[in-house]
Amino acid sequence: MLSESDKATYEWQLDVPGFGESGQARLRQSTALVSRIGGLGGPVAFSLAAAGIGKLILAHAGDLRPDDLNRQILMRHEDLGKPRVESARKTLQSFNPDIEVEIVPENFSEENASRLVDKADIVFDCAPLFEERLLMNRECVRRRIPLIDCAMFSLEGRVIPIVPGQTPCLACLYPEIPPHWKRRFPVIGAVSALVAQIGALEGIKLLAGMDGVCLNQMIYIDASTMRTRKIDIVRRDDCAVCRGV
Ligand SMILES: [Zn+2]
Repeated sequence: MLSESDKATYEWQLDVPGFGESGQARLRQSTALVSRIGGLGGPVAFSLAAAGIGKLILAHAGDLRPDDLNRQILMRHEDLGKPRVESARKTLQSFNPDIEVEIVPENFSEENASRLVDKADIVFDCAPLFEERLLMNRECVRRRIPLIDCAMFSLEGRVIPIVPGQTPCLACLYPEIPPHWKRRFPVIGAVSALVAQIGALEGIKLLAGMDGVCLNQMIYIDASTMRTRKIDIVRRDDCAVCRGV
């Protein structure tokens, strides 16, 4: 059941077909882990907060730097040199004080993978490195937790909703870490935010029990021409991660 306050706050989205009060209540009871809150994860967290997610767990190590500010919309100039997750929590809680925000000043790793995923109903993978993305994929498949994998490079983006047992996993597409992938890549904040919103919406649809989630598909966005495509993807019989799940 929704409170009167919830009904007042989320009134406009309660009218969305297939969402309604039941979708809002499901969202309110959900916890989402957002791994990295940079150009992708920041806008994901912002939209989940706006939509009324129950709890966000934000995982990202390090302090805010000047070169983060072209895309990290949860951050402010006044927070330069301070932990990114603290700045993000402050922004999100002033925006929506009804949600719970837990911060973890760590990047996803072998050491914290189990602890972080354990608390989540869904994971948004917004990390730039394949090592982290594949580790998150492995942990989510092992625990049967849905994963929304968001990635971008320059003017291109990809979103892959992964539901263990139903869809291919990230390791079906990338059995090995692609060679020559670098930590630093070109990015305009509007592109990472665009890709992030598609990921956030797929996650909201999944959590709210809505139809139309792009399962068994990769959503590909080419922002240089504004062309969007859905590309069918299939499970690999020999996938070391999701075989037998
Ligand atoms: Zn797989």
